[in-house]
Amino acid sequence: MNSNEKMAELLLPEIDITPDYYEKKYKPRSLPEGARVTRIAPSPTGYLHLGTLFAALVNRITATSTGGVFYTRIEDTDKKREIEGGIADIIDGLNRFGITIDEGFTAADKEEGNYGPYKQSLRAEIYQTYAKDLIKKGLAYPCFCTAEELDSVRKIQEEKKIRTGYHGEWAMHRDISFEDAKALIDEGKPYVVRLKSPGNEENKIVFDDCIKGKIEMPENDEDFVILKSDGIPTYHFAHAIDDHLMRTTHVLRGDEWISSVPKHIQLFKLLGFKPPKYGHISPIMKLDNGAKRKISKRKDPEAAVHFFAEQGYDSESVIEYLMTIAASDFEDWRRANPDKSYKDFKFNLKKMSVSGALFDSDKLNDVSKTCISRLSGGEVYEKLTAWAKEFDEDFYKILTEKPDYTKAVLSIDRDVPKPRKDIAKWSEAKDYFSYFFEPLYNNDFVLPENIDPADAKAFLTKYKNVYNESDDRQQWFDRIKAIAPEIGFAAETKQYKAEPDKYKGHAGDLSTVLRIAVTGRRNTPDLCSIMQVLGHDRCISRIESAINTL
Ligand code: GLU
Repeated sequence: MNSNEKMAELLLPEIDITPDYYEKKYKPRSLPEGARVTRIAPSPTGYLHLGTLFAALVNRITATSTGGVFYTRIEDTDKKREIEGGIADIIDGLNRFGITIDEGFTAADKEEGNYGPYKQSLRAEIYQTYAKDLIKKGLAYPCFCTAEELDSVRKIQEEKKIRTGYHGEWAMHRDISFEDAKALIDEGKPYVVRLKSPGNEENKIVFDDCIKGKIEMPENDEDFVILKSDGIPTYHFAHAIDDHLMRTTHVLRGDEWISSVPKHIQLFKLLGFKPPKYGHISPIMKLDNGAKRKISKRKDPEAAVHFFAEQGYDSESVIEYLMTIAASDFEDWRRANPDKSYKDFKFNLKKMSVSGALFDSDKLNDVSKTCISRLSGGEVYEKLTAWAKEFDEDFYKILTEKPDYTKAVLSIDRDVPKPRKDIAKWSEAKDYFSYFFEPLYNNDFVLPENIDPADAKAFLTKYKNVYNESDDRQQWFDRIKAIAPEIGFAAETKQYKAEPDKYKGHAGDLSTVLRIAVTGRRNTPDLCSIMQVLGHDRCISRIESAINTL
C-alpha cells in the first residue's frame, strides 16, 4: 500500500467497495438522441418558493420538449435547517401545479426510479466511496484546521490584500503525511476532506451556459471541502456524484451557483465524469419604487407559492403566467395556439431572460382572466368550490347548497364565442357573484346621477307588469324599449344622440335602472341571463323593493 492508499484506509476504513460498483449499478439511460435529463434538487428547509416552482417548470418543460426525464432529488444534508413537512410542501406543491415528476420523489413519501435513493442523507456511502477513491489517487486529503485557524488565515490574507481562501501556500494540510494525519486522528482531532485542486488562478475556463451563453472564469485553485467532519458531503461534491450517477444531462439551476461552476467542472474531470451542460436561471425580479430587485422571501408575499393558492389563483393560470416569463416567444405561440396545452410548446432555453424576468401581478391577473374565461361553468364550479372549501368555509356552504343553481350562475356568459374575462382569482368570486346568493346580497339602490328616482320608479312599475321570465335577449330588451317613450326616454340610443334635449335618456339608461334594481350593480354580465337564473319571484321581489326604496 502506498501512502495515499494508507491515508484512504485511515480516513474511510468502513468503505470496502470502489466507484466501479456504482458505475455498473446506475447504467447510462437509454433515451432517444437529444433527450434531456433534468432535475430539481430542493433542500427541505422551507416552503415551496416561487423560484423553485419556476426552476421546476423550466426543467420539466425542457425534459418534455425533448422526450427526456425530469426527476426530483432531495438535498437534505443540512439537517439543522430542515423543517418538518418541508419535502411534502415542495413535492405536493409541484403536483398541485401540474408539474409531473417522472422519477425521484413523486410524492412526499414515495420514491420511484432506478437511480435512487433520491435523498442525499441516504447516499453517504456513495459519496464516501468516491471520496476514498480520490484520496487513494492523491486528489483529496484530510484537513484539521479549526474554524479559528481558518479565520485567522483569512484575516492575514485580507491585510495583505491577497485573495482569501484555502489555496496555494495557504492550504496548510495539502501535503500532510500519513503519519501526521494518523497522529492527529489518534488524538481525536476532527477533520474535513478537501480536494487537492490542480487548478491555477491564471488559467481560464470557458463554458457555454445554455441560458446565458459563453462564460469565462478563472480556473479553481481552492482546495474546497468535499466531505464535512461528519462524513456528509458539501453541495459541490454531492452535485457532481449525484448528477453523474443519476445521468443528468442538463443542470438548470439558480444563478447563485454560477460562480461555483469552475469547482464543479474541475470535480467532474478529477472524478473522471463527463460534465453535464449547465444553464443558470436568473431570479424572478420585482419592481420596487422603480428599481428592479430579486423577489424576496421576507418582503414579498408572492415569493411563497402558498400565497397563490390562498388567493385562489388557479394553478394552471400561475403556470401559464410563469411560461410567459420563462420564454420570450411563448405569448406569440399562445396567440397562434389558444387551445393547446403549454406542454406542447417547444421550449428553448436561449429564449429565457438573462437579466431576470420581472414579476408583474397585473399581467398575472390578465393571463389568469383569460385562462378562467376558457373554462366551462362546470369546471369553474369544481375549482371555485375546491378553493372555498379550503379557504372560505361560509362561501363553500353557500355555493354547494344548491349545486345546479350555482352552476347556472357560473355558466352565465361562458361557453360563448367571446366569454367574459372578469375573474382572475377565486377570492374575488364572493363579491363578484354576491347578488345571486341571499346571504351575501345587499342592495342600496344607488342610481347614476343622470337618472331621476321618480323616472326610475315609473319605469320599474311599468316594467314589473310586463316582465316575462321566458323572454329571450331580444324580447327582453324590446320590452324596455317599448316603455322608454312612455316616460320620455328614447327607444334607440341614436335617437337620443341626435336630439339629446328632447329626451331624458335612452333605453340603455333604463336597463341600467333595472340592473341596479335586480343586482345592485351598474355593471354585470348579461342581465337577461342573470334574471333568468335568479327566477321570476326573486326578480319581482327585488324590483318591488327598489320601487319602495327609491
Ligand atoms: N439544493 C440546491 C439549492 O436548493 C440545488 C441547486 C441545484 O439545482 O443543483 O439551491
